[in-house]
Amino acid sequence: MSEIDEGERPALPMKGVPQPSREEVLGLPRVYISTHPVMQHKMTALRDKYTPPADFYRLVKEIGALLAYEATATLRLETEVIDTPLQSMEGQRLAGGIGITPILRAGLGLAEGFREVISEAQVWHLGLRRDERTLQALEYYNRLPHQVDIQVAYAVDPMLATGGSAIDAINILKKRSIPRLSYVCILAAPYGLLKLSQVHPDIDIYVAALDQSLNDLGYILPGLGDAGDRQFGTF
Ligand code: URA
Repeated sequence: MSEIDEGERPALPMKGVPQPSREEVLGLPRVYISTHPVMQHKMTALRDKYTPPADFYRLVKEIGALLAYEATATLRLETEVIDTPLQSMEGQRLAGGIGITPILRAGLGLAEGFREVISEAQVWHLGLRRDERTLQALEYYNRLPHQVDIQVAYAVDPMLATGGSAIDAINILKKRSIPRLSYVCILAAPYGLLKLSQVHPDIDIYVAALDQSLNDLGYILPGLGDAGDRQFGTF
């Protein structure tokens, strides 16, 4: 989730708001929820409240790398003739560049994990602050290039909670005429996942784990707490 505007903290933004169940969102089109056992193993360590920030950050990066592996499985390739030390052959290279948009600040660890899989990817930072009263995302930092020549951009943010900043991030990326967009998160609440999928049915959404619900404050349950604070030790 984007940064919370502390000055605007409301009482209970999700209180009384109806939420879909896990079962209701499990069959959504273009939503991919990881079933990999290594992912589930790492998720348990990540959720554990006794995991210290250094280990938490390392786990976010490792989960980011696993998500990148899953999210890049359908990328387009192009043929290129190369010379091995022994002979020429036709190899395959990714057709076009890749953009990663970490939503500040919690998306930074995930973006690092992505870069371990695709080191040549461009990184376009996007800062969205959430107005806790209205749950709207306000843009405060944007280093997206004006001209893009890539095949796909991944918006990455660990927590898909109410979906507000995810929807805004994709709106901002859509203005760049990128041919293909994906959203990648670690934990999703059914509420935010449904909202994002309804507003942007033309993107792929990759999730490491789907949780139960949001509490009255908009935190994911059972969740892992505040993903930004836990990565950077700001409790
Ligand atoms: N953002 C977080 O960091 N944690 C949540 O549970 C929800 C949003």
